[in-house]
Amino acid sequence: VRSKGGVVEAGRGYPLIEDRIQGEILRYVRVVDRSVARSELTEALGVSRSKISLAVGRLLEAGLLVEDGLAESEGGRRSSLLRIPRAAGLIAAVDLGATSIDVALSTLGSELVAHRGEPADVKEGPKAVLGRVKDLLSELLEEQGASRHDVRAIGVGVPGPVEQASGLLRSPPIMPGWDRFPIRDAFAGEYAAPVFVDNDVNVMALGEHWGGVGKGVDNLLFIKIGTGVGGGIIADRSLYRGTQGCAGDIGHICVDPDGPVCSCGNRGCLEAMAAAPAIALKAERCARDGVSPRLSGVLEERGELSAKDVGEAASVGDYHALEIIRESGRLVGQALATLVSILNPSLIVIGGGVANIGHSLLAEIRSTVYRRSLPLATRNLPIVLSELDQIAGVTGASVLAAEGVLQTTRVG
Ligand SMILES: [Zn+2]
Repeated sequence: VRSKGGVVEAGRGYPLIEDRIQGEILRYVRVVDRSVARSELTEALGVSRSKISLAVGRLLEAGLLVEDGLAESEGGRRSSLLRIPRAAGLIAAVDLGATSIDVALSTLGSELVAHRGEPADVKEGPKAVLGRVKDLLSELLEEQGASRHDVRAIGVGVPGPVEQASGLLRSPPIMPGWDRFPIRDAFAGEYAAPVFVDNDVNVMALGEHWGGVGKGVDNLLFIKIGTGVGGGIIADRSLYRGTQGCAGDIGHICVDPDGPVCSCGNRGCLEAMAAAPAIALKAERCARDGVSPRLSGVLEERGELSAKDVGEAASVGDYHALEIIRESGRLVGQALATLVSILNPSLIVIGGGVANIGHSLLAEIRSTVYRRSLPLATRNLPIVLSELDQIAGVTGASVLAAEGVLQTTRVG
């Protein structure tokens, strides 16, 4: 077993492609998402006609492309169009959140064909959680009349920092028991497909850029606000990971040196002060102090409060609930303004479980970013909610896996 391009190759059924040109052809056909003529490939990829013809021939033989209709003629012989058939295989996508599992199947041509999500607790540890992931995957495959042999690549997003070279989680603050757990190996016994692992927010950024509101945008920031807070950076149309893979991880930026202790051990991290648990904690304090009858009522009824309860209280005009949400928005906005100064994006997408807590969160993030950044940086900087929402993660995980498997070759 050797490691190459971030993938551990076990030598069964992959690499899928033989060389870089084959990979570029399939990636191009995926991106344009329609049938493509050989001449278009020659032009788009800047590769000679004979090389394209040779590579297309090999991909047709391997069943990764099929001929589909005829191209418009420009004099001469009409050539057939090419597309990626469903039989080329499936991509398995896994999005682990702190409190949820989402699993999906998409075609190699990037069409999402099946998706299932359920609540889960990542603290139960890798064995239990990944066991459930594999059960869900098997169910989806069976429903599609497919088997695990049809899976050509697996993409996994996890809610913690992932070391890019090894694909291992490194000291994930909210994932006890997962430190350095070999997630790739967990699939190796059953799937003859490479496994690509990345941080959940990086994966969601990929998803938004591929099929969400960020489609076609060169430079964007994706911010997830849920149990934690994180950021993913798309720079020059690709995911910017930094040296070890944790670029954009804004959750542990210090926003108050005297703030509460964070799950990472430091004090006053953005995450410890603005994410869902912090919102719930502040609300419980208000409820106990008796300043918000509504929050007190919900706490009495249920014994605990969630960020969602705070959002509902705010929506009916509860002043304290609204202030708690505004404070989160302000803190996130401050950290974001710093990122905006460094990266000068043209779009910011906000997602995660807390994103939909109510309009006041987004409004406060917007006004803080606009107030605290240079006018030139925010002159044309929309800050919007994720459109993909629940499927941003699995969409991105399938992009991660497909891009990964199409860049992994035996030689070169
Ligand atoms: Zn922290």
